Amino acid sequence: MPLFKTTGFVLKTKSWGEGDKLATFFTREKGKIFCLVRGARKPKSHWGGALEPMTLLDLMIYEKGGRHTLTQCQIIKSFKVLRQSSVPGSTALFLTELVDKLTAEEDPNPELFNQLELALSAMENGFPPLSVSLSFTLKFLNLLGFWPLMDVCASCGKRIEGGMNTFNPKSGGLICPDCKSSLSGNITIGERTLNRIKILLDSQFQEVRDQAEDLELNELLLSFLRSQLGMETSKVKIFLQKMEKE
Ligand SMILES: [Zn+2]
Repeated sequence: MPLFKTTGFVLKTKSWGEGDKLATFFTREKGKIFCLVRGARKPKSHWGGALEPMTLLDLMIYEKGGRHTLTQCQIIKSFKVLRQSSVPGSTALFLTELVDKLTAEEDPNPELFNQLELALSAMENGFPPLSVSLSFTLKFLNLLGFWPLMDVCASCGKRIEGGMNTFNPKSGGLICPDCKSSLSGNITIGERTLNRIKILLDSQFQEVRDQAEDLELNELLLSFLRSQLGMETSKVKIFLQKMEKE
């Protein structure tokens, strides 16, 4: 089946060859794929604005020998308003960056695809970007099996009881009092933040509103992404600085 149809988000593009682009799409049916878009850098390219990051597209793709070439596409949702708004736009870009960096090639995950569409739509409709982004990041890590178990010590496996609220990013989770003294880089998490994690994991994006503990949770997630997954999180930092100024 050399020609197939799918639905996908543009995660990013880069220049390729003389006048082409190589696009990274996150598709419902095939997960993340790389796809050549011929003529995309030509001045009068007929692809227009279809290749802007976050755009949701109907795609027709030609596949041969593991290589993909875009033959046709149609915009389903451009997310243009979202992309052009300062704080929600950079937060939304961070979500596509997460999907780009931490999903494997051709590993479909329809539930993740749905969650990304719901999160971007919520942000475009004016729901608070920080809490939507935190909720998406937690669901994302959970769906991919990256998010740590919160009920046993990430270092020794001992059961975590109430009041044990030390997080160690390097171990990748909560740790018990015995391990606390021998590990460095510990972060103490407030009880409210621990509860907030459960709420954000279980809530729809339209239900969440920013809470004071979200800044603490954001720091925690940043440390986790950095030390466990090697994720450079510059965009979220920029986002946080903007939040503080407003
Ligand atoms: Zn322990």
